[in-house]
This record gives sequence, structure tokens and C-alpha cells, in this order.
Amino acid sequence: MTQSKFTSKRAAIFADVPVEKWNDWRWQLSNRLNSVDDFNKLFPLTESETKALSTEGLFRVDITPYYASLINPDDPNDPIRRQVVPTAGEILPFTGMMEDSLAEDRHSPVPGLVHRYPDRVLMLVTTQCASYCRYCTRSRIVGDPTAQFSRTDFEQQLDYLRKTPQVRDVLLSGGDPLTLAPKLLEQLLSALREIPHIEIIRIGSRVPVFMPQRVTDELCETLQKFHPLWLNIHVNHPNEISEELEIACDKLTRAGIPLGNQSVLLAGINDCVHIQRELVHKLVRIRVRPYYLYQCDLVEGAGHFRTPVAKGIEIIEGLRGHTSGYAVPTYVVDAPGGGGKIPVMPNYMISASDHKVILRNYEGYITTYEEPQTYTSHDAKNCSFCKNKLGEPGQSGVSGLLDGEDLFIKPEGFDQLHNRGGGQHRLRENANKWKPLGIGLPKNEED
Ligand SMILES: *Cc1c(COP(=O)(O)O)cnc(C)c1O
Repeated sequence: MTQSKFTSKRAAIFADVPVEKWNDWRWQLSNRLNSVDDFNKLFPLTESETKALSTEGLFRVDITPYYASLINPDDPNDPIRRQVVPTAGEILPFTGMMEDSLAEDRHSPVPGLVHRYPDRVLMLVTTQCASYCRYCTRSRIVGDPTAQFSRTDFEQQLDYLRKTPQVRDVLLSGGDPLTLAPKLLEQLLSALREIPHIEIIRIGSRVPVFMPQRVTDELCETLQKFHPLWLNIHVNHPNEISEELEIACDKLTRAGIPLGNQSVLLAGINDCVHIQRELVHKLVRIRVRPYYLYQCDLVEGAGHFRTPVAKGIEIIEGLRGHTSGYAVPTYVVDAPGGGGKIPVMPNYMISASDHKVILRNYEGYITTYEEPQTYTSHDAKNCSFCKNKLGEPGQSGVSGLLDGEDLFIKPEGFDQLHNRGGGQHRLRENANKWKPLGIGLPKNEED
């Protein structure tokens, strides 16, 4: 790699740590900062921080010396400090607050496995992280050293995957999978790779950001045995992009691992178009593709980080068209109650007629797209892909409506509510059903 364009920092208190130790991830883990005394050596704590750190039952605090060194000690609002050092804001409840806002536990067929989408699962493999984000969406389980997943849990997770052939994509998360003991991580990856229907494995990890020292040549050699393997890191602010992170990402991409980034929109940290633009530019420079920008979840302790959804739209408005398409993430709201990620964006289609759509670009330039006068529909009857399409039991969704698979999607209790009179005054049987006229209409012959 050529000379890095990014900086490397070390807080004054760590100036005497020998390079071998500093670059050893085990040293980074065992020298994490977590107490009022630790932090006061780095910078004077604010009253709010001291109060939070002295609060019983607070979500775990632990920060690697490397990550703590990125903090500007003179700025109490430093965007890195605010991500990992708690404030009294964490103790405040808010409207809509939940412990498990994404209803992950309800979607877990076995402990730690969240199966929400038809073809992919989220596999929680550890409760431990290298450092702890104050807005953690899984603070209900993360950080508790006594709540680790056991061999039996892993076996149950793997068993479920072996007998669930529609799962083609497994996303390892936690906690942070890259904090697992190297041997255990390798065993898990091997066990997953032995399941023939699992096509891709993904890892979600903030280790490259909190502790880039963990990304050793050895780790990369291990990971590349399990291709196709993808990895998403988690950077929220341009100040997190250091020489060390650049080197770690370079190693990972050289091992053939495509890198993405997931960030969370956080008040006071990155709720600014210009910060976001700088962030995504730095990310693509280190070959990391911005993947998702998340609206902050309704999770306990994160109230003070939440922004209006409109802030996310404003950010996407400031990115799309203004910069490389590669640098624009998809802004998503992870549906409270467990509906999964819902993309939200500015409106680009302003109007339409039967032959034209009116679109606007990022500059406000308004154009027309003339639609074809004639269009021969896709010949589904003679398309082998249509014939062999994979089933999504009960989950074809809105796409299923377009497909003609379903006629409607009804809210729970809809039939009971609208069956007033029990249907006894019906004038003609089946008058509200589609008639099977032939090609292109829903298959409703059986009813
Ligand atoms: C985010 C998530 C996934 C992966 O979603 P993609 O949009 O495919 O990245 C899968 N399962 C669960 C439960 C998730 O929360």
C-alpha cells in the first residue's frame, strides 16, 4: 500500500506503550477504559458523563485505547467520544422506547437466530464487542459477560439452518463476531460452509473500527477460506477513518472480501449533510461501499441520539447526484415491531400520465420520460426463471400482488370486521372475486 493519507493517533497516556503491545489486539482488549478514573486521565469528564458512569445498571462501557485515542480531549462534544462515553441522556426514557424495538426475540426460532426475511437469517454469535456503542440496538443482551452463547446454542442454530433450505444468506452479528476466539470463529464458519444451501456468509463487525489491530494477516487467511464472504463495518464519522483502519480494510479487500459500511444517523454526531459527505468520500477511498444509513432505533438509552426521519431524507438529498453513486447509502428505518428495514428517500417522480412520467433530478431539473406506446409483457409462461421461482412461504408481500399471486393484503381481523351481516344479503355468489379470463390474471381457479 502507498503512504496512507489518513492519520494515526495515540493519546498521551499511551505514549510509552511499546509498539508490539499497541499493535496487539489482545493488549487493546485487556487495556480498555471504562471507569471515571480511566477517562479522567484522558480528558476532564463532564458532570453529565460522571453522573452516567456512576449510574447502577448502565449499559456496559468499554473503549479500546486505540479508539479512545481518536477522541479530541479538548472537545466534550467530540463525535467519537459521544459514541462511546455515556452521558446522563442515556438514563432518560422517551415516548416509544422499547427494550427490543425490532422484536428480534419474537422472530427467533432458536436462541440467537433471527429469521425475519424469507431467504436470510441474522445469527447472533456473541454478546461481546471491542467497545460499546451507546445507542446499541441490542443493549438488552450485548455486553453482559454472563450471557454468552453456549456450544449448545450454536448447535441449535446450526441445526435450524441445516433443516431450513430457503436460507441462502447467513449474517453473523452479535455483539461482534470478530471478538470471538479465533478457533471458535473458524469452527462456526466451517460448520456454516458445510451446509450446501448457504450461498453467502456475511459478517457485521465494528472490530476494524474499534480495534483494527485484530485484522491480522492470519485472520484474513482464515476468513478467505470461507468465500463468498462479505463484511460490513460500522463507521459513523469521518474522524474514525484512520491510517490503521485504512490498513485493516486494505488487508480485508485483498483477501477478496467486499466491504460495506452501515452507519447510524445520530444527533450531535453525524446529523449533517457535510459530515456525511466527508464520511462517504473517505469510505470509498478505503474501498468501503456505504451500504445502509440507519434511522436510530427506539431503543432504551438512545433517546438523545434520535433525529427526525426528515434529517435522513435531507442527507440523502445532499448525496444522491452530488457525489458518486457508489458513495450513497440506502437510508432505512428498521421497522419497530419487527417489519425489517424500510428504505426512505426523497421523491424523484413528481407526476405521471398514461404515457409519461415526470421526474426531477438532484438539481431540481424537471424532465419527462416518454413511456413506450406498446409493450409486450414478459412472457412468464415460457420463462424458465418464472417457472422455477423459489417459494417464499407466506412472504411474497407487495411483490406477490404484482405477480398475481395474491389479490390483497389484509390487516389482522379484517374479515371479521367486514363480515357484518354474515354475508347473508349477498346478491351474487363470488361477485367480488376476479374471473379467470386467462393469461396475466391471478390464479384463483380453486375458489
Ligand atoms: C438487517 C437484517 C438482515 C439483513 O438485511 P439486508 O437488507 O439483506 O442487509 C437480515 N435479518 C435481519 C433480522 C436483519 O435485521
